[in-house]
Amino acid sequence: MQNFDKKRNKKVFEIIVILKVIYVISSLLAIASFVTFEEQAKDAITITISISIILTILMGYFLWISIYTKNRIDKSPKFLDYLETSILIGMFIIVVFFTGKAESGYKLLSIFIVIISSIQFGKNYGVASSIIQIVAILAISIMFTSGNEEMLRLYFERDLVLSAALFVIAIILGMYVDTEREHSKELRELANKDELTGLYNHRYFQEYLNNTLIEADKNDKEVSLLFMDIDYFKNYNDVNGHQAGDLLLEKIGKILNENMRENDIVARYGGEEFAAVLPDTTEEDAIKIGENIRNAIQQTEFEGQENQPNKNITISIGVSSYPNSAINKHQLINTADDALYRAKSFNKNRVESYHSILYDLCREINIPEETIKSLKTFINMINIKDRYTYGHTERVVIYCKWFAQSIGLSEHDQAQIQIAAYLHDIGKLEIPEEVLNKKGRLTDEEFNMLRNHTQAGVDLIHHIVPLKDFRSIIRHHHERYDGKGYPDKLQKEEIPYLARMITIADSFDAMTSNRPYNTRKSHEEGIQELRANAGTQFDPYLVEKFIEMLEKYKDNF
Ligand code: GH3
Ligand code: MG
Ligand code: MG
Repeated sequence: MQNFDKKRNKKVFEIIVILKVIYVISSLLAIASFVTFEEQAKDAITITISISIILTILMGYFLWISIYTKNRIDKSPKFLDYLETSILIGMFIIVVFFTGKAESGYKLLSIFIVIISSIQFGKNYGVASSIIQIVAILAISIMFTSGNEEMLRLYFERDLVLSAALFVIAIILGMYVDTEREHSKELRELANKDELTGLYNHRYFQEYLNNTLIEADKNDKEVSLLFMDIDYFKNYNDVNGHQAGDLLLEKIGKILNENMRENDIVARYGGEEFAAVLPDTTEEDAIKIGENIRNAIQQTEFEGQENQPNKNITISIGVSSYPNSAINKHQLINTADDALYRAKSFNKNRVESYHSILYDLCREINIPEETIKSLKTFINMINIKDRYTYGHTERVVIYCKWFAQSIGLSEHDQAQIQIAAYLHDIGKLEIPEEVLNKKGRLTDEEFNMLRNHTQAGVDLIHHIVPLKDFRSIIRHHHERYDGKGYPDKLQKEEIPYLARMITIADSFDAMTSNRPYNTRKSHEEGIQELRANAGTQFDPYLVEKFIEMLEKYKDNF
């Protein structure tokens, strides 16, 4: 809750406490004075007992207010609130009954209850409470003037004036309270919303996520997060202008909102990035929601979409879940962002979950948990150091997965090649960023440094025994089929089978994605290049199998 709301509620709470306490004290004193004076029971014991009862009731009520009423400000009335008001009204009737019935001066106490009801729950509640009391007051007058018409007229007149006052107070004060609440609500919305899209803003997203995670901990529930980024939005702005870009953001905001369920919220996280908090949602369900959003945007016709590189407006989505993939808010955001990056790294317009595929793969070939953690650290390090290499690695993993499936490798080898693909470039951690990202020609020294990444990768995992099978794949993924590669100039079948497969996937991605040192080829050009080098650089049989795989999975590109 925002600070200004907290302050306001605290003040309202103080007013209500004062009114309730004064009302209860006055009522108890009225009853006590009746007991002590009217009944002429003035002995010390009765007085002490009366005072003790009054103090006990007061203390109890005060305790109740401080625990219960504190959280009942600016809320709709619940059963306990109705019960409390009924008790207060009951108490009022008892007081009037004991202090002279029709002629009781304590009828004025009803004003307190009406004010309390109106301030706490607004006009409707205040009016209802005033009507009940008006009925009670008039009924008492009628019942206890025992046919004495003159008395009835006198008291009835006074009661009518009081009734009118109660009613007017309830209406006016209630209306004022309702208006003030409405106004605060609007202010709150204004402070929480993004002006352009009408979605929640970054600040509210953080606040909602904090609260949702606290609730999830209490109730042992999961929370999922979607991170979304429009594909090629820069291009859309460049071609159609920023105003059209803004309009697109607005439209996409609407689609996102339409896909949210009751407790979900979607916020504009940054420029053209959105984030949705999905309480009590597993990663699996979050992926489904992500897919619905992705599909809805893909199928919507947007003006100017024909000028986009993929002839469409699409969105990429990263999913992560608490506590399975992240143990705190910071990690949850990072992992969702990571998953988004992964979705972007392969053709965009995809939903990717963070849930580590790596964990599943490693379990498949019985790699111990501890080793998986070290693996993850390497991958995170390369991600931090060089997002290009990370994106490239992710794509090579996907190519290898499809490649391995389509040539029918065993489950074990399918897992093995994917893990090897994750690891194949970790040696690049040792290469300075300037060299990795250098646009111009490399010096001999830099070139050697780059070539050394195969051995550097092996050195990094050398001490990790469960990864020993990966050493040769990493070391040999730059060998050439004709024996002119590095580092060992192995040829043909001397090169490990999985390394030969990775070489093809690795090279194909290098050709078809933007690298600092070359421009991107189309898939067709990439295929031509693979064929042109089959038998020299690449295993010719595997090249054809790889091309078959590309054909088979072409809908995924
Ligand atoms: P990618 O597919 O990888 O996401 O590429 P992209 O072109 O979408 O690149 P990126 O996500 O980095 O795009 C950021 C662009 O979003 C840059 C900026 O022009 C645009 N942008 C950010 N905020 C606004 C905004 O409020 N209005 C408009 N019209 N454009 C915005
Ligand atoms: Mg962006
Ligand atoms: Mg974008």
